[in-house]
Amino acid sequence: MIGRRTRTSIALAATALAASLTLTACGGSSSARSADGKLNVVASFYPMEYLAQQIGKDHVAVTDLTAAGVEPHDLELTAKQVATVQKADAIVYLKGLQPTVDQAVDQSSAKYRIDAVAASPLVDHHLDEGTDPANGQKPAGPAGDPHIWLDPARYAAIAKSVGDGFAKADPAHADDYRKNTDELVGKLDALDKDFQAGLKDARTKTFVTSHAAFGYLADHYGLTQVAINGVDPESEPTPARLAQVQKAAKDNGVTTIFFETLVSPKLADTVAKDLGLKTAVLDPLEGVKDPAKDDYLTVMKQNLANLQAALGAPATTPATTPAATPAATS
Ligand SMILES: [Zn+2]
Repeated sequence: MIGRRTRTSIALAATALAASLTLTACGGSSSARSADGKLNVVASFYPMEYLAQQIGKDHVAVTDLTAAGVEPHDLELTAKQVATVQKADAIVYLKGLQPTVDQAVDQSSAKYRIDAVAASPLVDHHLDEGTDPANGQKPAGPAGDPHIWLDPARYAAIAKSVGDGFAKADPAHADDYRKNTDELVGKLDALDKDFQAGLKDARTKTFVTSHAAFGYLADHYGLTQVAINGVDPESEPTPARLAQVQKAAKDNGVTTIFFETLVSPKLADTVAKDLGLKTAVLDPLEGVKDPAKDDYLTVMKQNLANLQAALGAPATTPATTPAATPAATS
């Protein structure tokens, strides 16, 4: 809504004057900062929350619309959550993943709406092939595959757009947002290099997963994803689809059926048993069960290790692994 020149004047005002005067400069609309001086940020689900926290740190108060451990597809918002979206200073979301969130964002008066898709356009991975439209299951649709955060390079591009958005929303702390963004992007670049190095000598490039969340990851590292389900992790595959998966597994020397953490592994277990294969976790990071223990980086490193084991790739020493606790000296 506001032009570049207005933003510049807000930046100057924010630097020189108290936040209350910035309010005047904004023409009477809600302040870009709440009473405690923090930018009120709403994040739609875990990967967006992680970016907001890592880039905003102490300058932001982040509300995640999707509770820890909850599967985000088809999330329903409470009236209270809709009100939170309405009042937010900035929103970080991924248009096309959660229709109710998209609706709430459209109705919000938040000035700064950071849509991950603007930084990393969606691709149609034709993931609807595993679902049966006759059963009322909807295909991925024209919006494409939403799982862009699972490619570390795309996630880094989204991180940069969050950093830019926060710098505009809260110019007084723009330098901190830029510094935090650079730090995070550096870690994501290292993770990307670990994936490249870790998967390049894999015995097979094909992996089978229950939920079709890894299309971008597969594209980026030259792998082929065979998904039992479509993009909706709770949908049931058709017998024809199961036969296709079975053939792909056999033809490509697949050893492992991957399942995810937020949905029952029953389907993956059944398919693996039928084919005489193992199961392992490939986490789509749509939520983190224990945020105190795990984050985007630790889960992605575990995903890499699990992929290496399943694809017969030699173990590598990740550059991103924090140094192990030093052995006690003598
Ligand atoms: Zn998903």
